[in-house]
Amino acid sequence: MQLLGSCHCGSVHFSVQCKHPYPFNLCYCSICRKTAGGGGYAINLGGEYETLKVEGMEHVSIYQPKILNPKTGIREEDPGQRYFCKHCGSALWAWDPRWPALVHPHASAIDSDLPIPPERTHMMLGSKANWVEIHAGPLDQQFEEYPKESLAQWHQRLGVEDPK
Ligand SMILES: [Zn+2]
Ligand SMILES: [Zn+2]
Repeated sequence: MQLLGSCHCGSVHFSVQCKHPYPFNLCYCSICRKTAGGGGYAINLGGEYETLKVEGMEHVSIYQPKILNPKTGIREEDPGQRYFCKHCGSALWAWDPRWPALVHPHASAIDSDLPIPPERTHMMLGSKANWVEIHAGPLDQQFEEYPKESLAQWHQRLGVEDPK
C-alpha cells in the first residue's frame, strides 16, 4: 500500500510503497527512544526504498548514531541513518546501506491510516528505560535484542503481506 507521511511543521512530505505496513514492531533501543519515541519506543514500518518520494528534501537532516561497542569501549558509528526534519525535529524514516532496498518510515510520521496489528513485537528490551512498562497483549512477542523474525516474515506468518 502507498503511505503518505510528513513532519510536524509541514516542510517535508513523502510517499512510499509499503508491503509491510503493520505498526507491530516496537523498538525500545536508546536511539529509537530518544530520537523518535517519547513514550519509550518507536515503531518502524517496512517500505521499498526505490519508491520513496520526498518533497522538501532540503529540510531533511541525517543523524548517524554512534553506538558503544562493549568489547572495545569505543563508540563506533552505526551505518544506519536516521532522517529527520531539521526545523521541527520530527523523525521521518531510517535507512541502512547494508539493506539498501528497504526503508523504514516511522509510524509516527505517517498520515495515512495504518492497519491495526493483531499482535505486536517488543524488541531491544535490554535497552529499555526503567520507567517504561511493557503493555504486551497475550500474543505479543518480547525480545531482549533483535528478533530473528524480520518485518517481512512477520507479515508473511500472519498472512497480511501487501502483494502490491
Ligand atoms: Zn518539520
Ligand atoms: Zn531501535
